[in-house]
Amino acid sequence: MITRFAPSPTGPLHLGHAYSAILAHDMAQAAGGTFLLRIEDIDQTRARPEWEDQIYNDLEWLGLSWDTPVLRQSDRLEAYQARLDALWNDGLAFACTCTRRDVMAALAAPQEGMLVLAGPDGPIYPGTCRDNDKTGGTGHRPDDAAIRLAMHHVADRMPDQLIFTETGTGPQGETGPITVTRREAQDTIGDFVLSRRDMGTSYHLSVVLDDAAQGVTHVVRGQDLFEATKIHIILQSLLGLPTPIYHHHTLIRDDAGKRLAKRDDARALRTYRAEGLSPADIRQMVGLPLSSDPKKSRRRP
Ligand code: GLU
Ligand code: ZN
Repeated sequence: MITRFAPSPTGPLHLGHAYSAILAHDMAQAAGGTFLLRIEDIDQTRARPEWEDQIYNDLEWLGLSWDTPVLRQSDRLEAYQARLDALWNDGLAFACTCTRRDVMAALAAPQEGMLVLAGPDGPIYPGTCRDNDKTGGTGHRPDDAAIRLAMHHVADRMPDQLIFTETGTGPQGETGPITVTRREAQDTIGDFVLSRRDMGTSYHLSVVLDDAAQGVTHVVRGQDLFEATKIHIILQSLLGLPTPIYHHHTLIRDDAGKRLAKRDDARALRTYRAEGLSPADIRQMVGLPLSSDPKKSRRRP
């Protein structure tokens, strides 16, 4: 078993991150496997070296250890570009110059007050740029525009349904085999962004390529990413990559039941550390067993 923790160095780690990291670590340890760390720093406008240092520092303090080297997404841009080019050259992608506002306006146009369907990657793309002349298969890929996956072409190559195994739970209690049908891919996911403007990649493309490159067998992460997994298995199928097992866990919420955000410094691990709490206190606060003894860990839901 190979698990990973993949934080973005854009703010302090909070209790929710601690839960995710400890769970992934303990699962690998209980199985005699490997726990890996990946720094998701593709958004160079928000990533900061001091947050990356704080991540190592907090995780060490929690008593976690991981196999080195740590993979940093900013070192992987060439690998992302190579796959993006392949999809482009295959005619499976197109350039999109829409702003978020354009997308919303196009969606609202047919009918005032129309319900905007939200997919795992935001509102379903209305297709504005789909048939422009900047479509893959012809010419070179512009790098001053977003690149979207041409789902209507991809769907032609997809099996009737794709499937992944969920060993945790999705937000609606989804567990076991989870399917994504070709219909669903077109109607509820659509042309998601493969590469953001001036970034050369997206969260979805990077995470799928990295999980494969790192040989991750079990993706342990928060339920907020459950819907995104449907995008990820489509990409894995398209790129000929293995689909890991997914274990989505519940989110740690604050006392008011709101999910913790990076900006809530109150719940930052370093704040608890400064207040004198111990790693054992943190394990207890997130409801994880103190011992990472395999038998005890396995009893966890
Ligand atoms: N980097 C993402 C985050 O900080 C997690 C990505 C993942 O686990 O797939 O929320
Ligand atoms: Zn567009």
